[in-house]
Amino acid sequence: MNTCPKCKLVNPPDAVRCDCGYDFSSGKMAASYLHGKTAQNLSFSLGTVYACLCFFGCLVAAWFITRILLHATQTGDWRAGASPLVAFVFMIIVWSLTGVAILRRKKYAITLSYVGAGIALLGIIARGIVPLDIILALPSFAIVFYLRNRSDLLT
Ligand SMILES: [Zn+2]
Repeated sequence: MNTCPKCKLVNPPDAVRCDCGYDFSSGKMAASYLHGKTAQNLSFSLGTVYACLCFFGCLVAAWFITRILLHATQTGDWRAGASPLVAFVFMIIVWSLTGVAILRRKKYAITLSYVGAGIALLGIIARGIVPLDIILALPSFAIVFYLRNRSDLLT
């Protein structure tokens, strides 16, 4: 029998790693199997919902882009719509990347969630404190903490 020096749990003689994460061959602490199981049991449904929100946001932005382009072609005035056009294209890029990263459970989804939260914060500062802006920005702040807590699920 193999008694773990870290947690004193008696392991079978052929055990490679104790439940606590102690590795018998290297004598070092490694990621616990139990911890891994718990991580897999963590729900990721909110992440999926947020990814869908991102794609929905892309559709809304695309609709605004179409309207701006239509208005510009009708009036011939391309200048007025230029900056919102750039902003909406940028949002589509950020949101679609975030949505795909979350669905594929990539670690860089956390970085992208910071970018999204940063943009939401900039929007609040730029437009003044509008309650609607804050309500709309809340999910982008929440997802940062959500993804950070589930970083074990991301690769
Ligand atoms: Zn142990």
